[in-house]
Amino acid sequence: MADSYDLVVIGGGPGGYMAAIRAAQLGLKTACVEKRPNKALGGTCLNVGCIPSKALLDSSEAYEHTLHKLARHGVKVGSVALDLDTMLKRKDKVVGDLTGGVTFLFKKYGVTPVYGSGKLLKGNKVEVTAADGAKSTLEAKNVLLATGSESIELPFLKFDGKYVVGSTEALNFNPVPKHLIIVGGGYIGLELGSVWKRLGAKVTVIEFLPRILTISDGEVANEVHKLLVKQGFEFHLETKVTGAKVEGDSVTVTAQGKDGKEIKVTGDRVLVSVGRRPYTAGLGLDEAGVKYDPKSGRVEIDAHYRTNVPGVYAIGDLVTGPMLAHKASEEGVVFAETLAGMKPHVNYDAIPSVIYIWPEVASVGLTEEQLKEKGVEYRVGKFKFAATGRAQAMDERDGFVKVLADAKTDRVLGVHILGPRASDLIAECVTIMEYKGSAEDIARCTHAHPTLSEAVGEAARMAWAGKPLNS
Ligand code: FAD
Repeated sequence: MADSYDLVVIGGGPGGYMAAIRAAQLGLKTACVEKRPNKALGGTCLNVGCIPSKALLDSSEAYEHTLHKLARHGVKVGSVALDLDTMLKRKDKVVGDLTGGVTFLFKKYGVTPVYGSGKLLKGNKVEVTAADGAKSTLEAKNVLLATGSESIELPFLKFDGKYVVGSTEALNFNPVPKHLIIVGGGYIGLELGSVWKRLGAKVTVIEFLPRILTISDGEVANEVHKLLVKQGFEFHLETKVTGAKVEGDSVTVTAQGKDGKEIKVTGDRVLVSVGRRPYTAGLGLDEAGVKYDPKSGRVEIDAHYRTNVPGVYAIGDLVTGPMLAHKASEEGVVFAETLAGMKPHVNYDAIPSVIYIWPEVASVGLTEEQLKEKGVEYRVGKFKFAATGRAQAMDERDGFVKVLADAKTDRVLGVHILGPRASDLIAECVTIMEYKGSAEDIARCTHAHPTLSEAVGEAARMAWAGKPLNS
């Protein structure tokens, strides 16, 4: 007889595992099906996404800091050497510890992990095929689809696992590439490009559009472009890649520039990071009659994550919205609480996003371009980190905070930060936006001195009162 559950989750990423844990905490009998061969929970984020990339970003930042920045602080070190094997092992350990942590949480809260590939059957059943081919069936009152996303492959630039790769392989280059060519100027390409640039690679980014970071605030993206050029990145914008040819241990990418002329860039590794699309292979959507957008692959849902099939829900990268781990997790928690009879919601206007290059980029809410497009009247408050005591003490003067507030009501509509530890600074702005606060609210909060957060207070003051105090 099939095992029977209140909820079966397919996919153990940040969306799925958080939904499973919250559902179990609320008393629902829950199983989570995950197909990674090594039984690792945590999905793309913990295994091959957020966590390993941040581990390498932190390690490579430490290396670069030691090489190029410590001397300015009066710290002299002997010869500095890169031990890439240790760096990669540390990254793997961080991943192992965190994925093991999810297994521990499943045990603690009573979620049953089921290892294998899950396929949705009619009548809310899930067929699981284990690694050895053995099949079993789970019966569920409710099924949550949380199978995430995969890298998009270009037809004229197929992944070959060695020379032309996606982000997963780019987390494990060894040795450091001599010349890494990155196709796509989005956040994943720039983060991984930063890692290998700091460790010694030449990095060339080829982007089809006229600017990098197309969904970020334009002013921030332009400044990032300048700072990355200063760090040694090379960019070809408005350039369309047409193919790549491997010869010996090098690979030549061909592309068409904006003047129509062909350019050739030769390197030893190519990272294709042109976006991600929902992953639904083998999930049984067609057989079970679950509707999805044939173009984007995203499963169609209503405001409560319900698909068109009663009792079947979907969240995370598989559905509409930004492909971010914390967005998937929030949806998982809200889904589970709704299933248990609570009435929570996700505020999609206040989901932060962070790009972990250096200096970091963090934002929440609307960009200036979006406000203009919507015809909203707004005020801008901007404050440079260079004018804060803490940034000077740290010797990290690049970047600024930009607060966008409604011209009539002063309500904060967006905050965009380029600067040191922007990833942490954005939290205050998310809270303010969640509570529908104003620029004056931020400005009147006492910001400890000397901290980087003073730049947030000053930018908000400028948006509200027209001028900051310290600039
Ligand atoms: P996933 O994390 O993709 O999890 C889905 C899981 O489902 C996978 O483990 C998969 O094996 C499993 N699965 C799929 N099909 C089946 C099936 N049929 N049966 C059983 N199991 C199945 N986001 C951030 O917020 N911050 C970051 O810093 C960040 N950095 C990133 C860096 C990189 C290099 C990449 C690639 C992504 C990054 N992301 C980041 C994005 C983030 O990883 C995703 O948004 C997030 O993992 C989505 O969560 P999810 O639960 O929807 O899906």
